[in-house]
Amino acid sequence: MDEKTRKIYNTAGISDAVLDYCSDIEQAQAERFRRIDEMSEYGQIKVVEAMRKNHVQEGHFAGTTGYGYNDDGRDAIERVYADVFHTEDALVRPHITCGTHALTVALSGNLRPGDELLSPVGEPYDTLQGVIGIRPERGSLAEYGVTYRQVDLLPDGSFDYPAIKAAINDRTKLVTIQRSRGYLTRKTFSVEQIGELIAFIKGIRPDLICMVDNCYGEFVEPIEPTDVGADMCVGSLIKNPGGGLAPSGGYIVGTRECVANAAYRLTAPGLGKELGSSMGLNRTLLQGLFLAPTVTASALKTAIFAAGIYEKLGYKVTPDSKEDRYDIIQAIIFESDKALIEFCKGIQKASPVDSFVTPEPWPMPGYDCDVIMAAGAFISGSSIELSADGPLRPPYTAYFQGGLTWPHGKYGIMMSLQNLVDAGIVHLS
Ligand SMILES: *Cc1c(COP(=O)(O)O)cnc(C)c1O
Repeated sequence: MDEKTRKIYNTAGISDAVLDYCSDIEQAQAERFRRIDEMSEYGQIKVVEAMRKNHVQEGHFAGTTGYGYNDDGRDAIERVYADVFHTEDALVRPHITCGTHALTVALSGNLRPGDELLSPVGEPYDTLQGVIGIRPERGSLAEYGVTYRQVDLLPDGSFDYPAIKAAINDRTKLVTIQRSRGYLTRKTFSVEQIGELIAFIKGIRPDLICMVDNCYGEFVEPIEPTDVGADMCVGSLIKNPGGGLAPSGGYIVGTRECVANAAYRLTAPGLGKELGSSMGLNRTLLQGLFLAPTVTASALKTAIFAAGIYEKLGYKVTPDSKEDRYDIIQAIIFESDKALIEFCKGIQKASPVDSFVTPEPWPMPGYDCDVIMAAGAFISGSSIELSADGPLRPPYTAYFQGGLTWPHGKYGIMMSLQNLVDAGIVHLS
């Protein structure tokens, strides 16, 4: 590191001891980072080619209002997404509020009363439990007569094929597969693993709709679940594919039939994709998608860098610094409330927005203990931006993700370490 860079880090609050400690880790990860860059190169070309093919042009950036009939930019975005994911069609809308909403639209659009939904990968993401009705909730699928069946993973984290086969019956209509671990302890599935599961399911009943909750997984691998047989892939634009620019939105890509069913649910039966004004957001969604491969690469590097640092300090990290990654989430198990809090405060301190506020644990709705959250994001709640949170209960795990640029992610992680050093929790020899 040259003197000028060292100096600005010092001015920004990072000591030489922390810089040197982290610098060694970064050097040891050089080959890993090179492979991530290579993958982002692949993703970048994939996205640009989809934009070239669909003649993305300045006229597409003009917004529509009201009904949004003939919004060429909106239609172009959807064709680009369909090409990036190699699907027949796509629904990409700023009106989709969040990932949970996108999944709700995909599920409720494709399921009918009397159908059964199957999760062959254990319990779904917390918010989905209310949507399905595992946890009773107003307007859940259960209230509309859609039943749910779940097959848990085997103790070693693999698929329980015999139990999955036994769970599939005449009423099974849709299989939901969550790619990312979310906040569970299981591992995230690779696209290849998801492909094996889908092949098994299609081998039993080729007509079953296989849907993948792709949240946090986009662009982490060169291929997506739709490349290995998924009929439908769903995610949030304030995570990876929005590239940090999309201010809101979600996507559903898949077969023409699945996307049409979802569109009839998002707007109205008979209206579908024809309506929905883009309100001036087309350019931002396209530019965000353009940036998404490199932004996701930055988030991945940040996660691996943090894993390397905290692992060397003796903390349990998952995934560890060596294993392959299939999403951008990193967990660090601190076994100490103080350490968890200082880590989050460090992330906050390094944020471009709200750096001056101090995160405090608070009794967040839906949790049985206090939760601390650190985020200083340009887009509220965006988890492709560097952000961390942790429930204040043993084993005091910090979950963090994001980093729009690698230099910022690196700075945030170094600040978290600096905070732990300054608090006397970590001693760098
Ligand atoms: C983020 C996420 C969701 C949806 O969450 P929202 O907060 O509603 O955007 C669903 N599943 C997984 C695995 C996620 O990571």
